[in-house]
Amino acid sequence: MKKIVTLIAAAGLCAAAIPFSACANENERTEYNITCRYDEESGTLQAECAVNYKNDGAATDVLKFNLYGNAYREGALYRPVSDELNSRAYYNGESYGQMEITSVEGGQWNICGEDENILEILLPQTLGEGDSCEVTIAYTLTLAEVNHRTGITEHTVNLGNFYPVACARGNDGEFIECVYYSDGDPFLSDCADYTVELTMPAGYTAATSGSMTASSGNSCTYSLENARDFCIVLSDEFKTISREVDSTQVTYYYYDDENAQSVLAAAGDSLIYFENTFGGYIYPSYSVVQTGFAAGGMEYPGLSMINGGLDEDDFIYATVHETAHQWWYAMVGSDQINCAWQDEGLAEYSALLFFENSPEYGITRTGLVNAAVSAYRAYFTVYNQIFGDADTTMTRHLEDFVSDYEYVNIAYNKGLILFDTLRTSIGDERFIAGLKNYYSACLGKIASEQDLTGCFTATGVDIQGFFESFLEGKIII
Ligand SMILES: [Zn+2]
Repeated sequence: MKKIVTLIAAAGLCAAAIPFSACANENERTEYNITCRYDEESGTLQAECAVNYKNDGAATDVLKFNLYGNAYREGALYRPVSDELNSRAYYNGESYGQMEITSVEGGQWNICGEDENILEILLPQTLGEGDSCEVTIAYTLTLAEVNHRTGITEHTVNLGNFYPVACARGNDGEFIECVYYSDGDPFLSDCADYTVELTMPAGYTAATSGSMTASSGNSCTYSLENARDFCIVLSDEFKTISREVDSTQVTYYYYDDENAQSVLAAAGDSLIYFENTFGGYIYPSYSVVQTGFAAGGMEYPGLSMINGGLDEDDFIYATVHETAHQWWYAMVGSDQINCAWQDEGLAEYSALLFFENSPEYGITRTGLVNAAVSAYRAYFTVYNQIFGDADTTMTRHLEDFVSDYEYVNIAYNKGLILFDTLRTSIGDERFIAGLKNYYSACLGKIASEQDLTGCFTATGVDIQGFFESFLEGKIII
């Protein structure tokens, strides 16, 4: 996500890091076959999700799926939107949605989890390691009126996290249940393959993570491989412009933007830069979507939501930041719940690299680093005054952030400072070589912090102490 808010808010708790299993090659990936219909009048998505689940973990008698749509219901323990963003998000006042499971084929089921956020399916027989099974989940997703990942916005319909998402599994074999923390991106999922058949009202256009493989009347079918999520944004106001970048179709979907060509240029140019710098983009298309979103933007594989209320400069910056997430989140995953700095710091620093090498934007390395240092020092001073001792650790659970303000300064600003200091210390050549290593070694996986540091170590430098000093909060900035 790209944050734009710098306010101060309420209190939080703590937890510990979880190691992950790696994700799979083509024959081992889970497959989702989703058929869904959006009804404009009721604001609902009627859907059936057939999942061919590939068990790459230990033998199990159950499957678990995250029901992110339930976080929008009335009475949810974890509200999806932070207090700071609440009024901007709920543009028509309070509004609620839910993800109601209506039937499951393939096993007995129940809704559980800390916040009714998990669908548990009890399998009729144990699923061995390497085996697969089929379950089919019918559900109704009711959408709140909200400028957020899943909701009806003023100009669009955001369908992020619109289907039951199989829980990733830790190295201990346990399914990792994600509750909807409002600070950060509370999502963890392994790469999978998707076929999505969508029926929409007449006159609507859909931006999706995938590429269209068939269409008939108001129904379109999309496919996407090796992706950890699938997202759709609908609107009856969308205009589109496209360009081909290498073999990737880059499209900008917008409803009101005088600078549409500049956005498309930034999306395409940054995609080329990141491909040349880190490694190839693996999806057939990339869509940037102007939409209702209370923060700056939100990344999904093959698609980025950008807040339509941003001014031109912030919109371009957010577009480049979210495009960088195609590398650091979509293709190379990481633990966004315990190590948010890993993808947010890298997305920020990758945007810096793009702007540094694209002087026509007038954004310099020095300018971005100085801005991050100033913001971080201001945070440190304020939090020292409020709490007596500002927490400067970087590796911490999303629950552990006191506010959006703290989250932004630790994950984004201190993350950017970390990578700039590393680059200055080891030199440009090793720095870029380390990121190329990270991309090629961790493509399609959920990479740990050690995976990242190991890719820099492989360039012939000892940087373990360096990372510890930042991550444990010892270094003075
Ligand atoms: Zn981000």
